[in-house]
Amino acid sequence: MTFAVHGLPVARGIAIGRAVLVVSSRIDVAHYFIKPEEVASEIDRVRTARNAVADELTKLQANVALMGPSEAPHELAALLEVHQMLLQDDALSGGVKHWITDRLYNAEWALTTQLEVIARQFDEMEDEYLRERKADLEQVVERMLHRMKGTAAVLAPSPPRRKRAATNHDDDDPHDPTAGDGVDVPLVLIAHDLSPADMLQFKKSVFAGFVTDVGGRTSHTAIVARSMDIPAVVGARTASQLVRQDDWVIIDGDAGVVIVDPSPIILAEYGFKQRQGDLERGRLARLRHKPAITLDGERVDLLANIEMPEDTVGALKAGAVGVGLFRSEFLFMGREAQQLARLPDEEEQYQAYRRAVEGMQGMPVTIRTIDVGADKPLDGKSARQEHLNPALGLRAIRWSLADPAMFLTQLRAILRAAAHGEIHLLIPMLAHATEIRQTMALIDTAKAELDARSAVYGQCKLGAMIEIPAAALTLRLFLQHFDFLSIGTNDLIQYTLAIDRADEAVAHLYDPAHPAVLRLVADTIAECRRQGKGVSVCGEMAGDITFTRLLLGLGLRSFSMHPSQILAVKQEVLRADTSKLAAWAQGVLEADDPAFALTLPV
Ligand code: PEP
Ligand code: MG
Repeated sequence: MTFAVHGLPVARGIAIGRAVLVVSSRIDVAHYFIKPEEVASEIDRVRTARNAVADELTKLQANVALMGPSEAPHELAALLEVHQMLLQDDALSGGVKHWITDRLYNAEWALTTQLEVIARQFDEMEDEYLRERKADLEQVVERMLHRMKGTAAVLAPSPPRRKRAATNHDDDDPHDPTAGDGVDVPLVLIAHDLSPADMLQFKKSVFAGFVTDVGGRTSHTAIVARSMDIPAVVGARTASQLVRQDDWVIIDGDAGVVIVDPSPIILAEYGFKQRQGDLERGRLARLRHKPAITLDGERVDLLANIEMPEDTVGALKAGAVGVGLFRSEFLFMGREAQQLARLPDEEEQYQAYRRAVEGMQGMPVTIRTIDVGADKPLDGKSARQEHLNPALGLRAIRWSLADPAMFLTQLRAILRAAAHGEIHLLIPMLAHATEIRQTMALIDTAKAELDARSAVYGQCKLGAMIEIPAAALTLRLFLQHFDFLSIGTNDLIQYTLAIDRADEAVAHLYDPAHPAVLRLVADTIAECRRQGKGVSVCGEMAGDITFTRLLLGLGLRSFSMHPSQILAVKQEVLRADTSKLAAWAQGVLEADDPAFALTLPV
């Protein structure tokens, strides 16, 4: 039966494919595709873990048998018996084998997927006793996951498009757009939540689209999705419970709608929309080599936001004239699941920054120092589980200043990479004069340490992100110390409006066009221009064509965004006349309803 789930549109376009469900488990598990030749060893890992847990349970049973009823109640022996049965159940091992063999899921992913499949069956049982066995199954699986820790192969995200497996594909499926043609089936990812580190892992795959239950428009999961340039919907609340493995799903990333099990008519309609989107992209691609100059001759820098050095390939392809934001924290995240050292050392970071600089072939690269915390935890655990109010807690520069050794390591690595090209060093989330002073002192210390060992390094322009209203209201302080400012509108909106950017429950109040937000953005641009300092916007607002004319009218000439957004913004720039936009932009700033004023002609 066809039904629709509504969420927030975060990355444009239409995706049609089979659902791959990624379930969250209480244990942080990695999700990645294995290579076909690794299937046997992956199944072996599961078997070894199962045997180890069976031994563990047997020992427990033996101990219980030796105890008297006062030490070990009768129920305990019965419970261990149930755990043994669940462990040996064919439904568990058969299912896990299927996900590994036919889908090339890694063992942990296969195990949690099968857990979810069986758990749903338990949920539907009439008998209360049997329904409650779900918790036992979860415990058994968690024991296995613990056993498997440390035995994974190095993460190797591989063929994301699976060949249709004869065993689980219905060739007569009237919904199947690829039925009978023998080609690979596109897959779409459905999850309750994905950590940014998980997203990064999936970025290397080619999922056709994805949906999460939670998240706001500028949550970091949404941001990585946008950088993957695939249609995505977040904040879809119950999608991961309603969609089943293998369901056909349409993701409408323009409208924020997910259509499950679509009828042939709906499929045809969306197939048409998808082709229209491809045509539009083709038209925009012609602008790639055109300089971004307005009708009145103003040159505009369109820069790329990247998460990994390898993203520079996409940045160049999209015609970026530099990197305006390298979110360096992605080098630090998800390392536990990959069995790497907790933090990358100086050499590893230096090599990564150097690759980014060299990748941009002489164009400037702005490296933002580590910004973990809030919805970007270092490992899979959500900061929400550990901190009262993570968005207001120890994140970004606060985190760096709390761990000077880690920060100095990063600063030394960036300075060394600056010997290979133009690097701008950008500091996130500053608000206080003391933070500025401490940061400057640590930059000096990093240079002194490099001098002491006669290491080669380059000089960087220094920039601060304006992400906290307190910073936007004390620009003079910032401009005394920094060469340029970069406005992080994602956080500036969050902190100005007191709206958690990752919380879908208040997503409707997250308003980039709020007059208070526009006022802070406008004042920052104006003050930088007055003082002859560089200024750019690197939050999502820069890549949203709704705001291109406004930002140009306010005097902005440097926009940093996902490479996938550059061509659409360039089209707006090419059509703009800044000599007329300035007065119009002032009108928008003063309007009671700026969102409406933005739609008015210039
Ligand atoms: C921002 O806050 O606008 C920004 C660019 O930083 P991030 O999205 O990584 O917090
Ligand atoms: Mg930010």
